[in-house]
Amino acid sequence: MSESDVFICGGGPAGLATALAARRLGFAVTVADGQRPPIDKACGEGLMPDAVTAAAQLGITIPAEASVPFRGIRFLGRGVTASADFRTGPGLAVRRTVLHQALVDRAEREGVNLLWGTPISSLDRIKARWIIGADGERSRVRTWSALEPPEPPSLRYGFRRHHRVKPWSDYVEVYWGRGLQIYVGPEAPDQVCVTSLASDPHVRVDNALEQFPELRERLEGSEIVSTERGAVTASRSLPSVFRNNIALVGDASGSVDAVTGAGVGLAFQQAIALAGALAGDNLPAYQRAHRQIMRRRRIMADLLLAVDRWPQAGDHARRALSRAPWLFGSLLALHTGPLHADALHTGNRDRHGADRRDSAPPLLRPSVARKKNPIAVPIPIPNINPKTRS
Ligand SMILES: Cc1cc2nc3c(=O)[nH]c(=O)nc-3n(C[C@H](O)[C@H](O)[C@H](O)COP(=O)(O)OP(=O)(O)OC[C@H]3O[C@@H](n4cnc5c(N)ncnc54)[C@H](O)[C@@H]3O)c2cc1C
Repeated sequence: MSESDVFICGGGPAGLATALAARRLGFAVTVADGQRPPIDKACGEGLMPDAVTAAAQLGITIPAEASVPFRGIRFLGRGVTASADFRTGPGLAVRRTVLHQALVDRAEREGVNLLWGTPISSLDRIKARWIIGADGERSRVRTWSALEPPEPPSLRYGFRRHHRVKPWSDYVEVYWGRGLQIYVGPEAPDQVCVTSLASDPHVRVDNALEQFPELRERLEGSEIVSTERGAVTASRSLPSVFRNNIALVGDASGSVDAVTGAGVGLAFQQAIALAGALAGDNLPAYQRAHRQIMRRRRIMADLLLAVDRWPQAGDHARRALSRAPWLFGSLLALHTGPLHADALHTGNRDRHGADRRDSAPPLLRPSVARKKNPIAVPIPIPNINPKTRS
């Protein structure tokens, strides 16, 4: 089907980020997606600071006028509020369709071959050195390549909609209720994004709001400016993220619960690591990097889901965090801070495990693996300075 070096099934954040990273290392890349851009999806639409950094490394420019920085996270529940600021710069709230269009624009400029409206139903006819499954939570590439984990994942259900109302906070607020959470992020000068998460698939945003009368009052009467969209969020861990010449990235490769707000950042970091591993012809290195990228997010997801299961423990935890903001700040820094460069540097071992590490991570140098068509790598930083906003 394709004569590319790298064929990517799925053109969401993970697929397009992998395409960008691979293209920058000199690979010819094709991406196929069953939908057409800009692709929407139920998502809390918050990029944590490490996601913003990875986006910059990938050359993705998110328009300042279509995004809103947020300074940290605030937990609210049963009369207790605890807040912490990010230590490495703000996060960025950006509408999913805006993010997707920014990725598409960049991929077009980088010369990625984009096949929209092209669902993949089999890998048999794909002719490429590498095949990447970036086809999301319900990945078929994962099934076709026998990479499904033996244990079914634990699932929760998220719904998201937008209200036309002036944001009242520059934190992303997470409201903790019985068996569910709502998070609210500023999304535009006159808009907030409201997302509910629950184990019960029947809980929609309105049902969840019943547990938070103050929040419901704030939103009451405001225009709902988007269709409520739902999606499953899974806590899934795979024993392996590759087989032969097939590798998985993004939600296809395993995921943490959406309450972490980490999915897109993880996908970007994995994409950078995966491209480096392709350049080094070393998918085992990607496997190691993937584990490292996921590890601290899994710890945080387990902690947050424990709080969901034991509300009294959650009360104690929120009280402790509100009394010791430095502790909350440290936990947040662990969760969202920059990853050690080694995790993204996967081109450093050959297939026999011998170390051939260079001093710079793969995205910061032109192609070494593919001398043909080397591409220099500028690293534009997206403008997230609120002063420059209209
Ligand atoms: C309710 C909710 C809230 C969330 N909030 C946040 C948040 O605030 N911040 C954050 O960072 N993350 C959040 N996440 C997680 C984030 O949305 C995901 O981690 C992210 O979308 C993963 O990107 P992906 O490219 O791996 O998968 P997807 O975005 O699902 O993209 C997969 C793509 O593959 C395509 N595809 C699928 N099958 C095929 C096929 N057979 N052939 C061709 N194309 C195919 C699809 O059309 C789709 O475009 C949230 C998730 C949920 C459910």
